Amino acid sequence: MEATLLVKNAAQLVTPVRTLEELPSRRGMGKLEIITDGAVAIQHDKIIAVGTTPDVIKKIKITPDTLLVNANGRLMTPGLVDPHTHPIFYTTRENEFEMRIQGKTYQEIAAAGGGIRSSVRAVRQASQAELIEAALPRLNRFLENGVTTIEAKSGYGLSLQDEIKSLQVIKQLNQLHSIELVPTFLGAHEIPDEFRHNRRAYIDLIIHEMLPLVREQHLAEFCDIFCEEHVFSIDESREILMAAQKLGLPAKIHANQLSSNGAAQLAGEIGAISAEHLDRITPEEIQILRDAGVIPILLPGAVFFLNLDHYAPARKMIEAGLAVAIATDYNPGTCMTESLPLMMSLACIKMRMTPAETLIASTLNAAMAINRQDTIGSLAIGKQADLVIWDVPNYQHLAYHFGVQLAEMVIKKGKVCYTKTPHPDEQGVFLRGKNNT
Ligand SMILES: [Zn+2]
Repeated sequence: MEATLLVKNAAQLVTPVRTLEELPSRRGMGKLEIITDGAVAIQHDKIIAVGTTPDVIKKIKITPDTLLVNANGRLMTPGLVDPHTHPIFYTTRENEFEMRIQGKTYQEIAAAGGGIRSSVRAVRQASQAELIEAALPRLNRFLENGVTTIEAKSGYGLSLQDEIKSLQVIKQLNQLHSIELVPTFLGAHEIPDEFRHNRRAYIDLIIHEMLPLVREQHLAEFCDIFCEEHVFSIDESREILMAAQKLGLPAKIHANQLSSNGAAQLAGEIGAISAEHLDRITPEEIQILRDAGVIPILLPGAVFFLNLDHYAPARKMIEAGLAVAIATDYNPGTCMTESLPLMMSLACIKMRMTPAETLIASTLNAAMAINRQDTIGSLAIGKQADLVIWDVPNYQHLAYHFGVQLAEMVIKKGKVCYTKTPHPDEQGVFLRGKNNT
């Protein structure tokens, strides 16, 4: 088989694998397979061979058109998958950040016009073109951090027109950028101001107008809700998510972030695909998620950024057999970072996950949380050719060497879409300060 691209001589090729029992069950963390002197051969957008460099070279045909990349001394992994982001906002909220640092409470900030509602005002005033222009550099930053797929939520429009506008922006970004965006409808992010005294009317708007239109126009693959005290109650969440499920949109839930409110239990009850945050999940709810095969998406960056110091009990979840995923929760209010590797560091330090577990949690388990396990999240024959070459010798470095940008080259669907150094040397090795004129 002719290769269009061959990446060879990786010091470590590391990819998650799931055993036959773990494969369909949506339970268990899975394991890492580590290949020394690893290689991946690609034909167009698909992987055609994975293994040691001599083995892969034996199995494929190299032609004059094959692009050769020498990953000598470096780590190769699947492209990272961020299964929970809110990238469609217009203005940033650094003023609120400063107010919080100076000791203001979230309620005081909201009273001064801040919070989700300030993002809503800005998104409603922005055009699609302005929202796209604002989002593109954010997608660049995800890519530079080794992320090749993100789940992207709407949720700062909160009207029929502005939620549809946000989802159409996601659709257009998919065509404009190498990063793959998986759209989620989050009309139930907050009750907008104009419905504050008539929340029932907003819930009816979501169920009877927004959801059918989102479905009809194929603008989202999932429906999410912010189930929390003072936002959406358990009963309201059940009603909205079941209406979404009836239309064929699987459910996701922002659950048990600030309170132990039974939202994780609801995720199990209705068979949600994932439950997110879970900082205050109960032991009973961990069993419920396990039995229902719900993927927990943990967001340690939000806990860190809000300085809450109450992290999700990742170890207990892993011991109970859950397939834990991690994500950035990228958003302008409660977690302003596009760095999934930084989340891997926080997951190790604050939640006692091992470096291996954090890599699985941000690749294959993250893919499972957005129903992409068959196409992305691991390096295997037939899968989409999404991979990253990191400027480090082994996978532990991804969590250990924190807060800096370590991706050297990012390949999405078989195409090189980011290199830290513009040009390789004669051996195809990318070195900074060399040949980069
Ligand atoms: Zn979120």
